[in-house]
Amino acid sequence: MIDLHTHTNESDGSFTPAALIEAAQSISLQALAITDHDTFAGYEKAAPIARAAGFDLVCGIELNSKFLGKNIHLLAYFPLQPPADSFRSWLAGLQASRRDRNARLISRLQSVGVDIELHEVESVGRSLAGRPHFARILVNKGYALSILDAFQKYLSEDAKAYVERDVPPTAEAIEYVLASGGVPVLAHPIRLGKRNLDEEQALIADLHTMGLPGIEAYHSDHGAADSARYLAIAERYRLVVTGGSDFHGDAKPRIQLGTGANQNLSVPEELLQRLREWAGSR
Ligand code: AMP
Ligand code: ZN
Ligand code: FE
Ligand code: FE
Repeated sequence: MIDLHTHTNESDGSFTPAALIEAAQSISLQALAITDHDTFAGYEKAAPIARAAGFDLVCGIELNSKFLGKNIHLLAYFPLQPPADSFRSWLAGLQASRRDRNARLISRLQSVGVDIELHEVESVGRSLAGRPHFARILVNKGYALSILDAFQKYLSEDAKAYVERDVPPTAEAIEYVLASGGVPVLAHPIRLGKRNLDEEQALIADLHTMGLPGIEAYHSDHGAADSARYLAIAERYRLVVTGGSDFHGDAKPRIQLGTGANQNLSVPEELLQRLREWAGSR
């Protein structure tokens, strides 16, 4: 068993990088990728621990992007060598846009009567705070009953404090990942939110035409029929297949490392081998 999609507390997960490696070893995972949102900080903390333990840790990251007005999540894997410096400078721009969004979100929350300061969010958010950190503070301060309630009342796209974030076009993200030795993969395609299967396939075909080489066929939000459909699409367009739980620890308690939601996940080990072969064949 492997898990190629996980988050640490350097983004919006609850496990420290060290605790995540320990958890992966305790369930005998063969390999783990850390794919925090917009940061390598969790991977970088975990890497020496994994190396010392002889554990197979893969460098990854999850990026937001926009295509045709839709939010597209990409995973980027660097399974053979660390990302080129050009990628890190591009990433610094994304991190700046997230910080800028966070500052505007604070002003917006204050304008609807919430007593909250940027430093409070940054102190729980470590290297990169996200909306889940805002949600936790709103709950702690009594503005919301639960994380979900905080999103519904304040933070989700149709809620009263929502602010847009500047995210790169999907084509640009794909290009930067490929140019720096990485493998970009469409994350949790089920969340494309297409009304029918033809529309879904057409969108994936568009992304493939743009240069996207991979798809996350296995994910905690995918049923068996979904995974089978994405595997068929992968075969049709010759896409690299990946899979992972999207583990966030206590931040998403229904999802277990390696096994997903109610044991609905089992990611074949050979996928990592193929991902490495693809990365090495360019
Ligand atoms: P951000 O990247 O800072 O905009 O935050 C997005 C993250 O918030 C996502 O990765 C989800 O984990 C989380 N999220 C988004 N919508 C909800 C929701 N309705 N309830 C709980 N968590 C959410
Ligand atoms: Zn997340
Ligand atoms: Fe995602
Ligand atoms: Fe994720």
